Amino acid sequence: MGPVYPGVMRVIVVGGGAAGMVAAWRAASKGHRVTLLEANGRLGVKLRISGGGKCNVTHAGPLKEVLACFSPEQARFLRPAMHRFGNDEVVEWLRREGVETYIRDNGRVFPLDRPGSAAAVVAAFESVMARAGVEVRTGARVTGLEGRSPKLTGLRLGEERLVADLFILATGGASFPETGTRGEMLAWLRELGLPMRPWFPALAPIPLARPRPAWEGVAWRDGELQLLAGRGGKRLARFKGDLVFTKVGISGPAALELSQAAESARMSGLAHLVYAHDLRPFEAVEAEALADARAQPHLSVVRWIQRWIPERCAETLAREAGLGEGHRLKDLPKEARRALVTALVASDLGAPSAVPLTKGEVAAGGLKLEAVDPHTMAVGGFENLRVCGELLDVDGPVGGYNLQAAFSTGFVAGDL
Ligand SMILES: Cc1cc2nc3c(=O)[nH]c(=O)nc-3n(C[C@H](O)[C@H](O)[C@H](O)COP(=O)(O)OP(=O)(O)OC[C@H]3O[C@@H](n4cnc5c(N)ncnc54)[C@H](O)[C@@H]3O)c2cc1C
Repeated sequence: MGPVYPGVMRVIVVGGGAAGMVAAWRAASKGHRVTLLEANGRLGVKLRISGGGKCNVTHAGPLKEVLACFSPEQARFLRPAMHRFGNDEVVEWLRREGVETYIRDNGRVFPLDRPGSAAAVVAAFESVMARAGVEVRTGARVTGLEGRSPKLTGLRLGEERLVADLFILATGGASFPETGTRGEMLAWLRELGLPMRPWFPALAPIPLARPRPAWEGVAWRDGELQLLAGRGGKRLARFKGDLVFTKVGISGPAALELSQAAESARMSGLAHLVYAHDLRPFEAVEAEALADARAQPHLSVVRWIQRWIPERCAETLAREAGLGEGHRLKDLPKEARRALVTALVASDLGAPSAVPLTKGEVAAGGLKLEAVDPHTMAVGGFENLRVCGELLDVDGPVGGYNLQAAFSTGFVAGDL
């Protein structure tokens, strides 16, 4: 258990994003004097752009299933906080504040579709914080921490120095720095002797060593992106889902989900990406090719692979397999047919280039979980320091999991 705090405290929360706003509201509603410091000119800037401006606030379903989408260590850490303020509580809380939500087929929970629905979520926070008496200071970028274990003695805000009984740090990660998250807190916490995992890209588009700018905007659907330990190597990771070509590489759900693993593999020198348009074994797809060639003698190769691959790519891929527009499926020699089937079960995307930290929906890394009490978010070795949100070494997949983690950890951090 973390330290026990007596009486009404003066609390400073740093960072007015998802986690910081919940922490500030919760602490103030328990009667503490709370100031929320936010570097930007307004609160919740990242929340406002989340889910493409629609804000996928959480994920529906039993908490066990929500937790299972995090790594086992992160799930163990998040369990107590999610049981206090989980997906049902978030939805119910929003409803009480006038923000109705709905669940999409894939379990993602969004506010009802209205223009600016993400802004409505931020407005709900602003309203509860105002009612609870939180003092909000925007345009207030903290520039340093003072003190050392066992006590933080103050915060620097340029020339100004602020003191409090308790400090809650909720400064987020290091992606999308234009939203205010520059990641500087990581170095400051390390200077305090705390164990930090360096920021690492996650849920980001993957640039390719050999991009396909001509295919920009084209989507490959209903297949599986696979990460291999080098060309033809062991499969390291896989994700079923769509991808979209960009000028420099690939984006879309499958690319985002594999980006962290792709960057790790790239750094170790062995990374190769393929997309399985057809998830059946090679032999089954080849048997279909032979059957179709017999049944439709005039069927061209390019037409045939368009069943799986968009027109804009089909010709190029056929050409790369050594085949032209005029080739008919039935005339293919064995080697050419096998090259074609390979393009369907493992379309070669080549090696990834460095995945940019700044483009991720989250940044992996942050304060290592072993240093934090999962029931209170109190930082070990300090009697007046708590940390919540993405600044913790927590990163979930796309689907509302990251905001849920921020809300849950923010709630217990502010539950004083
Ligand atoms: C484009 C995009 C879309 C996303 N969509 C979704 C989604 O739909 N669903 C989902 O679950 N997750 C989504 N995420 C992830 C989610 O937004 C984050 O995981 C979540 O906002 C983290 O909450 P947080 O409070 O920890 O950090 P943030 O929301 O990033 O808030 C941190 C705040 O701290 C402030 N700050 C930083 N440093 C200082 C300082 N030194 N002094 C004062 N203030 C400081 C920042 O300005 C910022 O406002 C998305 C992320 C991005 C980038």
